[in-house]
Amino acid sequence: RRRALESFKDKPTLTRDGHWVALLANVGNLNDITQVAAAGADGIGLFRTEFMLMNAQSLPDEKAQYSLYCDALHALQGKIFTIRTLDIGADKELPCLQLPQEDNPALGLRGIRYALAHPELLTTQLRAILRAANHGPIRLMFPMVNQLEELEQVFKLLEDCKTALNEEEKGYGDLSFGIVVETPAAVLNLPSMLPLLDFVSIGTNDLTQYAMAADRSNPQLSRDFPALSPAVLKLIQMTITAAKQAKVTVSLCGEFGSDPAIVPLLIGMGLDELSINLSSLLEVKSTLCNGRFCDFRALAQSALSMDRIDTLKQCITSYK
Ligand code: PEP
Ligand code: MG
Repeated sequence: RRRALESFKDKPTLTRDGHWVALLANVGNLNDITQVAAAGADGIGLFRTEFMLMNAQSLPDEKAQYSLYCDALHALQGKIFTIRTLDIGADKELPCLQLPQEDNPALGLRGIRYALAHPELLTTQLRAILRAANHGPIRLMFPMVNQLEELEQVFKLLEDCKTALNEEEKGYGDLSFGIVVETPAAVLNLPSMLPLLDFVSIGTNDLTQYAMAADRSNPQLSRDFPALSPAVLKLIQMTITAAKQAKVTVSLCGEFGSDPAIVPLLIGMGLDELSINLSSLLEVKSTLCNGRFCDFRALAQSALSMDRIDTLKQCITSYK
């Protein structure tokens, strides 16, 4: 079976009726990044940069980050490279930063809120990324953005970084921009933000947590938490519809994308890309290559009419 899966490595992710999907990888370090091309992925859809901080004494400085991003570009040889800026807070605790004590950290200073409250961290990262973009294509994505003002603040910081780099006569390159859509507010506010964006990526781990008011790391909820619910499915559908209308690329980087049972439904809903764990890549690719997009679309249509978690599950498992 492993050998049969291996045969998909060098094939494009094309359904039997000719629908192509970009299959990307979720990664957390340079070691993963160097495996992406050989694993048969079209690039990286999510580089979780806060992983650089997990075992570090402090945040790598601009030079160290610049060289990491350049090494990644070199390993990727022009394949898609999507960097997510530091997603700090909540379940992503980092020993080297003294995070404030909060009663509800998942509802607190996390993601882009933390970054905007600590612009020195974000500025260091943005400068390193802008400079690395001089050596290859980079897509930059911001976590936990709820609304337009946050995006405007980030773009203002980016402009300030460019001005400073110009003054220092340091080269930098163009970036494409996206957000992780991972709160219900982001879904509802998306039409106002799409004009500023080149792509969006649906973060179903947090989108589920915030839509269902269910802590993603609470073991007492773990039986229900991974379940795809009709409410979350509707939020995914709203995001895809809005992005398509605005002609913005739409991806998904949550764990649902790494589940071969759920992938036909997700692709049938119209995603352009899927970003998944390297360990699931070949299985997901073979599922897509062995199926037909017209069947995925029919599955999506019936799944979207389900109003119960259990019937939605039955609908998903009925596809084979
Ligand atoms: C998500 O929230 O779905 C996501 C992809 O990001 P993370 O799991 O890093 O929060
Ligand atoms: Mg998230």
